[in-house]
Amino acid sequence: MAYIIAVSNEKGGVAKTTTTYSLGASLAETGRKILLIDLDPQGNLTLANGIEPGKVANTSNDVILSGLGIKEALCKTSTPGMEIVPSSPALVDAEQHLPVRSNYAFCLSNALRAENLPYDYVLLDCPPSMGAITYSALTAAELLIVPTQAEYFSAYALRDMMTLIRKVRRDSNPRLAYRILITLLDQRNRTHKVIREQLEQTFGSGLFQTVIEIDTRLRESPIIGLPITQYRPNSRGSQQYRVLAQELIDYVQQQKDSQSA
Ligand code: ADP
Ligand code: MG
Repeated sequence: MAYIIAVSNEKGGVAKTTTTYSLGASLAETGRKILLIDLDPQGNLTLANGIEPGKVANTSNDVILSGLGIKEALCKTSTPGMEIVPSSPALVDAEQHLPVRSNYAFCLSNALRAENLPYDYVLLDCPPSMGAITYSALTAAELLIVPTQAEYFSAYALRDMMTLIRKVRRDSNPRLAYRILITLLDQRNRTHKVIREQLEQTFGSGLFQTVIEIDTRLRESPIIGLPITQYRPNSRGSQQYRVLAQELIDYVQQQKDSQSA
């Protein structure tokens, strides 16, 4: 059974999509089988994989709203071992239609568990909102990764994420764990340093030890249509996402060991 990870933060521009793409590719490099699902109507992850949103027949919108099997919506990526379910601009409508349905929170969870999917990790790239789609992603996930910048307003916005996590745990997914990931870090920036220390004090082991620093290569890679690990394999961004992948693999292994002990 694949390990399902939601990448979410209600703030835009905090590197959700960059993290989904780069972490997915780093995990794929280790020989693991990866599925990315683009749940953002803006379709940045879809575009970064060279697929034009709105030009593909089957999308995550069909999986969520029409019960289409995930296997029917798969597209290849340039990374061996990594596939994607693309998004569609129609997902904007899903955000409105979903909540009317009973048990809508489980639509993704059910879709992911209905088929025997041959993946080690499934990464869900969420839209920058706390609507029905994000809620269904958090209900499906074992782990929520919350990318955040070391900026005052970003750190503040984490309060809302924590409230949402408590609600999901109470109502639909008691097992949901989370890890905060500091992204777009500038080590020379004093404010970043202070906020990073505050986040460490507040969240302790709820924070990934790995941080992702600013690297302009990460801005270029989606334009080229390749993940950073292929576009600039030796860049700092590549290295840090690989370290993150290893930290994640170790964490998941620890969870499995403690469950079977
Ligand atoms: P989100 O999905 O949360 O809206 P994105 O992943 O699209 O955020 O990132 C927002 C912008 O920041 C994009 O232009 C992306 O290329 C850029 N970016 C993300 N991470 C980094 C980084 N570590 N260094 C430099 N630019 C980055
Ligand atoms: Mg995004």
